[in-house]
Amino acid sequence: MNIPDIIIAIDGYSSTGKSSFAKLIAKEFGFTYLDSGALYRCVTLHALEKGLIGEDGQIDKEALLEELKTLDVHFESGPQGSAAYIGDRPVEGEIRSLRVSEHVSPVSTIPEVRAFVDARLHEFGRKGRIVMDGRDIGTSVFPNAEIKIFMTADPQVRAQRRFDEMKAKGQDPDFQAVLDNLLERDYIDSHREVSPLSQAEDAVVLDNTYMTFDDQMRWIRQLIEERFPA
Ligand code: C5P
Repeated sequence: MNIPDIIIAIDGYSSTGKSSFAKLIAKEFGFTYLDSGALYRCVTLHALEKGLIGEDGQIDKEALLEELKTLDVHFESGPQGSAAYIGDRPVEGEIRSLRVSEHVSPVSTIPEVRAFVDARLHEFGRKGRIVMDGRDIGTSVFPNAEIKIFMTADPQVRAQRRFDEMKAKGQDPDFQAVLDNLLERDYIDSHREVSPLSQAEDAVVLDNTYMTFDDQMRWIRQLIEERFPA
C-alpha cells in the first residue's frame, strides 16, 4: 500500500500498546518510529541517577533544568530497531523499569522538560513520514498530523499486558503495583496543566481491549485507504 509522506500521531492512555502498534505501522509502511515517552523516561532516569529526585518524590527542579542544558538524548537504530541513548550509552532497558515509571509522570509535568522533549521531537520529525506515539502528539506536538489515533483499552487488560511483558523480561512484577502505576500515570497525564493527555477533536478512537495486532493492522489499513484512496 502506497501512502504519502504524512505524520501519524498516536496518543492514548498508558500501556494501551501504542508503541507496539506504532512499530508495526513503521515496519509495514516504511515510516520512522519516534517514541516520545522514551525521551521523558530518559530525562527521568538521568534525574534519578543524579540524585535529583528525593525519597519523597520531590524533584530538584532547578538542578534538573541546569542538567537539561547539556543532556544529550536521542535514538539510534540497532538490530532491535530504534533504541534510546543518553550520550553514548544505550538505556532502552533501564528506562522501562518500574522505578522510572513511578517518577516519569511528575517529571513530565514540568513545562521546561516538555519544551526540551518537544524540541527534540520536532528536530527528529522534520523529514515527515513518521509515526510518533505519546500523550500530546496530535494535540500539541504535531497538531497538523494527517492521521491522529487515540488509543484506549480496559485498565485490567492493560495491566495484564504490561505484567506479562515484564515477566517475559525476567522481572518479578506485582500485578497490583503495575495496575496502580498505570492508573496513577493516566491521572497525572490527564490532569497536568501543560499539554495534558486528551483526545484531539479530529482523532479516531481505537479501543483495542479485544483486538489482536492483526485486527489493529486491518483497522489502520482501512483507515488509510479511506483517507488516501489510491
Ligand atoms: O509512553 P510511555 O508510557 O513510555 O510514557 C511515559 C510517560 O511519559 C507517560 O506516563 C507520560 O507521563 C509521559 N509522556 C508525556 N507526553 C508524551 C509521552 C509521554 O507526558 N508525549
